[in-house]
Amino acid sequence: MASMSTYRPAARPHLKPSSFIVSPRPPPCTLALRSRLFGSRIPVDLCATRTRLNGPSGAGQPLGRVRVGSRPVVASQHSFDVVIVGAGIIGLTIARQLLLESDLSVAVVDKAVPCSGATGAGQGYIWMAHKTPGSDMWELALRSHQLWESLAENIHDQGLNPQEVLGWKKTGSLLVGKTVEESALLKRRVKQLSEAGVEAEFLSSHELLLEEPALSVDKESGAALLPNDCQLDAHRTVAFVEEGNRQFVSQGRYAEFYHDPVISLLRSGKNGEVEAVLTSKSTLYCKKAVVIAAGCWTGSLMRDLDIGVDVLVKPRKGHLLVLENFDLIRLNHGLMEAGYVSHQQIMQHSSVSAAGLSNDEEMLSISMTATTDTMGNLVLGSSRQFVGFCTEANASIIDSIWKRAQEFFPKLREMNLAEIGENRKVRIGLRPYMPDGKPVIGSVPGLSNVFLASGHEGSGLSLALGTAEMVADMVMGNQGKVDFAPFAVDGRCCR
Ligand SMILES: Cc1cc2nc3c(=O)[nH]c(=O)nc-3n(C[C@H](O)[C@H](O)[C@H](O)COP(=O)(O)OP(=O)(O)OC[C@H]3O[C@@H](n4cnc5c(N)ncnc54)[C@H](O)[C@@H]3O)c2cc1C
Repeated sequence: MASMSTYRPAARPHLKPSSFIVSPRPPPCTLALRSRLFGSRIPVDLCATRTRLNGPSGAGQPLGRVRVGSRPVVASQHSFDVVIVGAGIIGLTIARQLLLESDLSVAVVDKAVPCSGATGAGQGYIWMAHKTPGSDMWELALRSHQLWESLAENIHDQGLNPQEVLGWKKTGSLLVGKTVEESALLKRRVKQLSEAGVEAEFLSSHELLLEEPALSVDKESGAALLPNDCQLDAHRTVAFVEEGNRQFVSQGRYAEFYHDPVISLLRSGKNGEVEAVLTSKSTLYCKKAVVIAAGCWTGSLMRDLDIGVDVLVKPRKGHLLVLENFDLIRLNHGLMEAGYVSHQQIMQHSSVSAAGLSNDEEMLSISMTATTDTMGNLVLGSSRQFVGFCTEANASIIDSIWKRAQEFFPKLREMNLAEIGENRKVRIGLRPYMPDGKPVIGSVPGLSNVFLASGHEGSGLSLALGTAEMVADMVMGNQGKVDFAPFAVDGRCCR
């Protein structure tokens, strides 16, 4: 197999040196200016241990010395209404919603940068096709889909092109079945979706071939077509959200702290409420709320923060294969094989099991997903497996993704993956998996000012705007547009 290159986030030209953003930590001479822009920012020689603290009751008081490992570091303190931990699509869109819909000040903290987590690997499907009417997820998915569509329309109304800004394409989605059973399942899904008010149509094999000529179909094939399903490019979308958030820097309402892991929380001695988030470099006081949106790291972070709640979110690794500037086939829609919906085990696909994957990867599943993105790349997916926090590329999995795609697209059988060389990239991300299949969104029992927003697994891009609206409503004490109850922390995490 040819050498495999792992996807790296592109350079981020929108990060202008003059932006008032605390990322990475600015030189001392800029501090005075920045303090006027987003609250108290007082460099002090801090002293705190890594574990829970009873700190001062308000911002602006010296804490002492922070230890990172054995090394004392000079840290600074700031005060915001809301501190968000995690700058993936979930954290950044929550910040956006709070900035747009309230007058609260917001800080976003990340141990690295946006798109370094699952968000940067996402295929970008903004889909209803694989959501089930009446399920706990349905209303949130529907609301989020509406919000994405409105955002794309707003961008268009402002004279901009959503395709350029977000990588937005309203291609529609195709869930593709290859067997009589899968086609029957898709017919039932189309009926169910239509009854729930979502436009959906069943395509016979002949109709499917007209829609997507690159597909291999036989008389048993069929598909569910949802013409209003969309896709976006996660990197462009994140850049757009960040750019929008930074408009609030000049009002002193927004700041970013990147390359700055959260290491501890400062608890009030009086009522145990969280008063501040301690990062490796700063103390960020939060007057109103802390939102933990740390993706697959949320479970381990909550354990490290020692607040007595065991969040069951864990990493579910995914690989995508990207063939750049690929014109052998061009797809008109986003595609997914019907079996993906039930996350079938790898052994169900004879061609994939022939890849000879080890027993350790028994939980591995690979199903065909395929789309042509706005840059003309063919994006093929995807794998799901539990291998902890490992993000190494696995050559046999890439091979299996390729072989599965070849089963659906005959033209790909004419090619050897090794021949593609430099033009192939691999994207790897850790989806934040929750065992019950629902994200956890809500306040932590016993800590009313700490909110979780995590566990979106393979739908975090789709569900981001709905989640952001929900969290902002919770923080502001508003009634939600969507029922909060199915996503509550209580009862789904151990204490
Ligand atoms: C291969 C693949 C394909 C996918 N395709 C789709 C798709 O088509 N459609 C869809 O809707 N979804 C898709 N997803 C899922 C989607 O990408 C995720 O659900 C979503 O990105 C999760 O966003 P997040 O913000 O919760 O997590 P992340 O993007 O992982 O962000 C979490 C952030 O928290 C930060 N963090 C962690 N610990 C700390 C700490 N201690 N201090 C500070 N910061 C910290 C991390 O650095 C990270 O930036 C896909 C995922 C994968 C892997």
